[in-house]
Amino acid sequence: MKIATIVGARPQFIKAAAFSRVAQGKHEEMIIHTGQHFDSNMSDVFFEELKIPAPKYNLGVSGGTHGKMTGSMLMEIEDVLIKEQPDWVLVYGDTNSTVAGAMAAVKLSIPIAHVEAGCRLGTLKNPEEVNRVVTDRISQLRFTPTEIELEHLAKENLSEHSYVVGNIMYDSYLYASNQKLIELKLLDFDNHAVELPQEYYYLTCHRQENTFSDEPLYEILSAMNQLESPTVYPVHPRNRERAARLMQQHQFHNIILIQPVGYMESIYLLNHSKKVVTDSGGLQCEAFYAGKQCVTVFDLIIWPQTMVGNRNQLAKPKQEDILAKLSAKQTIEESYRPFGDGHSAEKILRYMEQYEVK
Ligand code: UDP
Repeated sequence: MKIATIVGARPQFIKAAAFSRVAQGKHEEMIIHTGQHFDSNMSDVFFEELKIPAPKYNLGVSGGTHGKMTGSMLMEIEDVLIKEQPDWVLVYGDTNSTVAGAMAAVKLSIPIAHVEAGCRLGTLKNPEEVNRVVTDRISQLRFTPTEIELEHLAKENLSEHSYVVGNIMYDSYLYASNQKLIELKLLDFDNHAVELPQEYYYLTCHRQENTFSDEPLYEILSAMNQLESPTVYPVHPRNRERAARLMQQHQFHNIILIQPVGYMESIYLLNHSKKVVTDSGGLQCEAFYAGKQCVTVFDLIIWPQTMVGNRNQLAKPKQEDILAKLSAKQTIEESYRPFGDGHSAEKILRYMEQYEVK
């Protein structure tokens, strides 16, 4: 099979790596990078570290409104698909790159496989929900992380050709956790090396709701600053200025701001942390896999499977709420493992190989 994999954002590189590892040597995989994330520490590092085949095409589309970004990607991807004539288009998750890839493919009658299908927040006000709903509707194969997402698809009459394969991020998590980290290089914004404290909390925070004005980010940082151990916070490039300014204005000395890290480093930081505070969909699942208590600063439940026995709790961007949730006792059965067996990529590939294109 000739498979065109469309990626553009950090979590997609991480998911695509797991599939590329199993497809390598068996099928021809061609990576199309839309350019949504382009900084070297948000993109190149993942291709290098996770040994993802270099993108054959980099479309250089980033920034702008959702419509403009999606439209530009759609035009560019269509040109590539017409030229390359793949047997499959493979898309991941719910970004503008996902929906643009799927829409370009469906209009050319190229079958689409959607990984991480069926996730629903229940509101089209969430821009990614639009991407999820549209992509699922036009895909030939839908791969869900658990039964819950399969039920969502059933409610939309999309049960046919939808399969539970486990969470592909779990494949990646196990891969990274089982590799020896060669070097942990943490850098501050001036490129100076930063030493990792013995005990620390791991924070990531990049959602628009939490970082596009001072108030929520101030509350989150303020909560972390009051903890008994320091917090390590790799800052998404678009939040760098605001985070640095708030740290200075409020003299937060118990938080270490660093540049984004590679995936191996992120998993190392997670596995050695005390607890996690995040607004990332991916990191809250990884915290779950790692057995780390997590507080998710968001108002909607993305991964209900993780919200068990205080392993993962939602908090408002308010310091009292974050601190209260962080101190809640964890009461989870360690045998509870809803995200599959870490072999999602193999299952996805098998379903694609067996699918009879009509
Ligand atoms: N991550 C990383 N480097 C960092 C911060 C996070 O590799 O500096 C990883 C993290 O472990 C998780 C993924 O990036 O696997 C989450 O991506 P992101 O937060 O950008 O997206 P979301 O999960 O919100 O879709």
